[in-house]
Amino acid sequence: MTSPVYDVVIIGGGIVGAACAAECSAEGLRVAIVEAKMIGGGATAAGMGHLTVMDDSEAQFALTRYSQKLWDGLRDELPPEVEYDACGTIWVAADDKEMREVERKYKFYSERGVAVEVLDAQSLKEAEPSLRPGLVGGLRVAEDSVIYPPCAAQFLVDRARGQGARVFVGKAVQEITPDGVRLRDGSVLSAGLIVNAAGSWSPELTRGIDVKTRKGHLVITDRYPQFLRHQLVELGYLKSAHTMTAESVAFNIQPRRTGQLLIGSSRQFEVQESTVDVSILNRMLSRAIEFLPGLAKLSSLRAWTGFRAATPDKLPLIGPSVEQPRLYLATGHEGLGITTSLGTAKLLVDQIVNRKPVIPIEPYLPARMAMSGAELAHV
Ligand SMILES: Cc1cc2nc3c(=O)[nH]c(=O)nc-3n(C[C@H](O)[C@H](O)[C@H](O)COP(=O)(O)OP(=O)(O)OC[C@H]3O[C@@H](n4cnc5c(N)ncnc54)[C@H](O)[C@@H]3O)c2cc1C
Repeated sequence: MTSPVYDVVIIGGGIVGAACAAECSAEGLRVAIVEAKMIGGGATAAGMGHLTVMDDSEAQFALTRYSQKLWDGLRDELPPEVEYDACGTIWVAADDKEMREVERKYKFYSERGVAVEVLDAQSLKEAEPSLRPGLVGGLRVAEDSVIYPPCAAQFLVDRARGQGARVFVGKAVQEITPDGVRLRDGSVLSAGLIVNAAGSWSPELTRGIDVKTRKGHLVITDRYPQFLRHQLVELGYLKSAHTMTAESVAFNIQPRRTGQLLIGSSRQFEVQESTVDVSILNRMLSRAIEFLPGLAKLSSLRAWTGFRAATPDKLPLIGPSVEQPRLYLATGHEGLGITTSLGTAKLLVDQIVNRKPVIPIEPYLPARMAMSGAELAHV
């Protein structure tokens, strides 16, 4: 038997695969990363690039917070095109009920060491003068930040290459084999381990994993550098992000380093067409204008869609496949994959080299799905 050429072959050059390639190669592993189209061109190009802590569950908090700190540690090394901006987030409360949610989030985050501040109506207005009058308050999360994801993915791939990784761009994996991958051009890369980091395409290569597509729309405006200071998200966004069926829109807006405003977002389950749905777009923009009336006068440049890779429990799959020896999964990051890419890569490598991870790994293991019968037999 000949020994494999690579210790690890990573399928997918989105932010998750890129982070895994950088981390595996930093560990001294012989790495190949295979991207069918272009680095950072999938969901990574479509996303907002909000690096944010979230508190849907302890596991979601642990991974987002861990990852946020990793991004923070990397910030001085990021090139200008990654547009790292420590703008912070304000969760906006429209009524007293949402203000109670602000207080709950304040308690949750501050108990776990996250710098948060409750804003009353007046301080919200001072923080973001373009918001409409009548809003009740908000929660400022100062350590949240924003990046431009495709350039971050390219930076991580370049780092991996500098550490000895081979990068195959424009090469699609046709099939995961027992000892590596077969590319669509017929060539074979032999590997000790394979990592499926193909995002919403991951089920095409690993049948049976419970990863479904969740379509989202975004709009970008022309440059209005004075309009906004923080990433703003309505508290109703949580309702939208939690809806597992049908479609929803929620107000979510981001100031870009370029002075542009990135407006989101929508969620539609299991819609396959990538075309912009004008009715969803109109609902999304109307919602944003309800919060920021001045938006109605600004010019938008482009609208697009992307697909989040969603799991039933809203946590990614990070770890060995239950069905296929030598296969690891790093997929299912839904709307948080830019944030959690760095934590994912650390947790993956910890498992590969058998090292104790910094945060408990169990909530992200693919085996949790198999236990509930979600990972079907590989045929
Ligand atoms: C509208 C929207 C807004 C978002 N906002 C945020 C946000 O603000 N913050 C945040 O943290 N996350 C956000 N996300 C989520 C984030 O974009 C994703 O979770 C993340 O990009 C997933 O990265 P990935 O590398 O897993 O997948 P992708 O970026 O989709 O990468 C997968 C790659 O695999 C490649 N591939 C597929 N099949 C093959 C094959 N057979 N062979 C080789 N390569 C293959 C694809 O070409 C692709 O490049 C958002 C997503 C959307 C859609």
